Amino acid sequence: MVPPGTGGGTPGVPCRCSTAPGRCVGAPATDPTRRDRYDVRTMSDTTPDPRPQPSEGPPRDRLGRRPRDLRISVTDRCNFRCTYCMPAEVFGRDYAFLPRSQILTYEEIVRLAAIFVRLGVEKLRITGGEPTVRRDLPDLVRPLAAIEGVRDLTLTTNGSTLRTLAAPLAGAGLRRITVSLDSLDDALFRAMSGADMPVARVLDGIAAAREAGLAPVKINMVVKRGSNEASIVPMARWARDAGFILRFIEYMDVGTANGWRMDDVVPWAEIVALVDATFPLEALPPNYPGEVATRFRYRDGAGEIGVIASVTAPFCGACTRARLSAEGELFTCLFAARGTDLRAPLRAGADDAELEARIRAVWGARDDRYSDLRSAGTANLPRVEMFAIGG
Ligand code: SAM
Ligand code: SF4
Ligand code: SF4
Repeated sequence: MVPPGTGGGTPGVPCRCSTAPGRCVGAPATDPTRRDRYDVRTMSDTTPDPRPQPSEGPPRDRLGRRPRDLRISVTDRCNFRCTYCMPAEVFGRDYAFLPRSQILTYEEIVRLAAIFVRLGVEKLRITGGEPTVRRDLPDLVRPLAAIEGVRDLTLTTNGSTLRTLAAPLAGAGLRRITVSLDSLDDALFRAMSGADMPVARVLDGIAAAREAGLAPVKINMVVKRGSNEASIVPMARWARDAGFILRFIEYMDVGTANGWRMDDVVPWAEIVALVDATFPLEALPPNYPGEVATRFRYRDGAGEIGVIASVTAPFCGACTRARLSAEGELFTCLFAARGTDLRAPLRAGADDAELEARIRAVWGARDDRYSDLRSAGTANLPRVEMFAIGG
């Protein structure tokens, strides 16, 4: 069993804080006092980094982090209206999504992705919005899969279109998939996702992904206090029986539209304790440095779960993620207010070396660590919406 609290020194629990080894005071990250402990002014520190940036090899940001993962948003549109992401009352019929001319073409995405891979990115994730609402998605997967140096290519989807798309995506070179699903209960699924379809359709999509050979299938479940806590154990049971890797995600303060409150967050330790009480767990080491999810295995050998504890145990110190928005802006943090336009130089005829230099400069200046700094002082900072830059 894993006791609550995430500070260093908890036996059997990998420390998730980003304090330098040996300097961690072991305070549980859920300690409410930590939320006001930081001076948010450090977030906007734009002092140039005095260290010289290499013109070859992977760039390092101001905290020494390399880019390893690129999340590519192919659309800002979605056929769902999840309450925590795109609440229907804000993103209604009149909401102005990006016109087609402003969205990167597949050729433009592939060209930029190849430059990121030259800079050290090994993992590509296609996301959105809902990526599968964009037409001919396999036509993007195929060339991305062919980029030399891509070790992992995956897709995050709400699962609603997988019955028809899973096989073509796998055939185009997609290797694995993550499907978001917050409950097996039909009424709760509809309420949280705002989807005009039964949960059975997503479950059928997940089955289609497995039939198509996409493996492992991971399931993302956002846990929101007062909404779907009762679904934690049923989801764990279902995923365990089916052999899917379930990842519980703490409800995050992404964007500015979801009315996030700290009280709505179910801390990871509480989630793990709930699952552990029915299906005993033990901690697993990360698959690779900087892995977003903290992993646990079932003691009886029936698979594993993960928790993504961005709120109560932030992991900015190991953050190697870059995000490319559907309109071609580079974001270096999920909570950033602004990105850097790559589409304009791309469409103005910049060559690869010029684009690479621009990306290097942005990454070299990066000092993002929003989740480490989250506090009352960060609550009202402007932030891009998550569906615009990809989860
Ligand atoms: N539409 C796709 C989907 O839902 O899987 C991909 C894009 S979605 C923005 C990517 C992931 O972000 C999903 O797993 C979703 O559950 C998660 N997400 C969205 N809003 C969130 C929030 N406020 N807190 C935590 N996770 C969130
Ligand atoms: Fe759409 Fe995904 Fe956001 Fe839900 S989480 S509204 S499915 S983009
Ligand atoms: Fe990375 Fe920003 Fe998330 Fe921290 S808050 S882990 S820097 S994306």
